[in-house]
Amino acid sequence: MIFYLGLGANLGEREKTLRRAIERVKKIPAVKILRVSSFYETEPWGVESQPNYINAAIKISTELEPLALLDELQRIELELGRIRREHWGARTIDIDILYGAEISHERLTVPHKFLFERDFALIPLAEIFPTLKFNLRGDKVIRVGGSPTDFKFKLVACVDKNFGLGYKNDLLFRIPADLKNFRRLTLNHTIIYGRRTLETFPNQKPLDERRNIILSCSLKNLSGAEVIGSVEELFNVLNAAEENFVIGGAEIFNELIPYATEIFLTVVDVDAEADTFFPSVDEFILRDVKTFDGLEFRRYTR
Ligand code: ATP
Ligand code: MG
Ligand code: MG
Repeated sequence: MIFYLGLGANLGEREKTLRRAIERVKKIPAVKILRVSSFYETEPWGVESQPNYINAAIKISTELEPLALLDELQRIELELGRIRREHWGARTIDIDILYGAEISHERLTVPHKFLFERDFALIPLAEIFPTLKFNLRGDKVIRVGGSPTDFKFKLVACVDKNFGLGYKNDLLFRIPADLKNFRRLTLNHTIIYGRRTLETFPNQKPLDERRNIILSCSLKNLSGAEVIGSVEELFNVLNAAEENFVIGGAEIFNELIPYATEIFLTVVDVDAEADTFFPSVDEFILRDVKTFDGLEFRRYTR
């Protein structure tokens, strides 16, 4: 089932709390984040004498029952320090289910009963749900920095026709025309990858003429690369003006595809044996395809 969630925070480090909440939602078993909106600064609604909010929306797919999903979201609210005082009062984090299958239960109403009266919920939601029909009231809702969407994450991979990526800890392909394209795309930019991808490089060394960021909890320091333990930490070290190429493996693609703006896939028209796969590109639009040397160079955007 697909659901759209609305997040809001108006106490503490608001952007940081939202980013952290998104990462926790991502870790709920049987939940996949498909898309993340920008962050917006909004004026309080309902109880007005409180600080401004930062709001965002995310699109998820889940196999959880809606009430089980609500339980998980409320657990995350508590873990991130939410204390329920007055209704609609200031809070470190609020995570509501905004839209999805219709639900009418004493604990859960979907669509959210005030969704269509709240510009602060509708504007972030519309960014990731462009076909939604609604009217705005004209409240002040301003896109702000600090959102995961500020960073230009571009995914680059070479796959077979079934989106297979690798087999037994190695790449499926090493094709000169693809490697050349990879180099052209990534040179002088940032590349982000996992430890197993490092092991597929020549001499297991970081690639030169690029900023190498390795996402890994097990790896210690490594010359020529920065080792980062979590996606949350990643947001602290990235530069919003830079192009950040996410280059694998499957686990890292899964972690970062909700934040991706662009995907470059080289598709080799064979049916290879694979045990890891590129994540679904259903949330993206195929913008162009170039065929060269029997390879298909595809570019997808949102
Ligand atoms: P509002 O619901 O007006 O946005 P709020 O988010 O501040 O207010 P909470 O204290 O977070 O309210 O939640 C109060 C109760 O609302 C929850 O315990 C939950 O059972 C119920 N609820 C009903 N529908 C929803 C929904 N769509 N999403 C989240 N909670 C919901
Ligand atoms: Mg709410
Ligand atoms: Mg709530």
